[in-house]
Amino acid sequence: VQAALRDRARQYLVRDHLAEQEAYAAALRESDRRKDEFLAVLAHELRNPLAPLRTGIDLLLLENQARDDDLIPMMSRQTSHMVRLIDDLLDLSRISQGKLTLRTSTVSLGEVIGNAVEATRQQIESAGHQLHVAVSGPLHVTGDPVRLTQVFANLLSNAAKYTEQGGQIHLASERVQEKAVVRVRDTGLGIPPEMLSRVFEMFAQVDSSLGRAGGGLGIGLTLVRQLVEMHQGSIRVASDGLGCGSEFTVELPTVAGMPRSGAVRGPEF
Ligand code: ADP
Repeated sequence: VQAALRDRARQYLVRDHLAEQEAYAAALRESDRRKDEFLAVLAHELRNPLAPLRTGIDLLLLENQARDDDLIPMMSRQTSHMVRLIDDLLDLSRISQGKLTLRTSTVSLGEVIGNAVEATRQQIESAGHQLHVAVSGPLHVTGDPVRLTQVFANLLSNAAKYTEQGGQIHLASERVQEKAVVRVRDTGLGIPPEMLSRVFEMFAQVDSSLGRAGGGLGIGLTLVRQLVEMHQGSIRVASDGLGCGSEFTVELPTVAGMPRSGAVRGPEF
């Protein structure tokens, strides 16, 4: 009888423990959901005042072009930076809630890369970097041109941000079997080996004064990887360590039946 009672008691204990674990998991799920919701609301609330602010600054910029001071361009740059950060937050929260959809079509990779270069040209030039673009084309992928531009602009912007003044940035694309391969390489700070597998994680940042000076939340690469994976692609990073530059490689499936052809050198500036 004693043994049977002990057995029953053990069963109750196990059941109790399981119920406790289940309650804990449910609480975690709930707090995760509320965190996602909060993030979405926070991003919206932060974003709303910025649009009229930016319009106002742009107007001032146009009206005061003759004025010789850096104040308005600085305000314009800072507002754009904040808009980009908040847009990244909004995108991440849309992805985690399954609300980000791609508007896909057959996209020319050369065009997307051209747009990304345009979007980051000012940042690259003002840091005194040289950008070399070698696009092997024509290469076509199925994707959302706006999101793909965002991917490459983000990688170019990081290359500019994490490279000391006057560095070299190379962007090259080519077809390798059925894949479009795009490499963004810089001669910058590089990434220590222990961080290589972590830079795509949310909020992961290599501690460096240059990096901190550029600002950022450590979510850009998380978003880039999510977007690449939504396009059935992959992204990886290589670096020979701190001070040795970094190379990000994006692979995307090419559109079947699109012609292969030789390499065409892109513009250098
Ligand atoms: P953020 O730039 O806002 O910090 P990211 O997610 O874009 O966030 O990048 C995460 C971290 O990875 C950066 O903080 C930086 O430490 C490192 N990193 C990203 N790109 C490069 C690069 N091209 N060279 C060196 N480090 C980089």
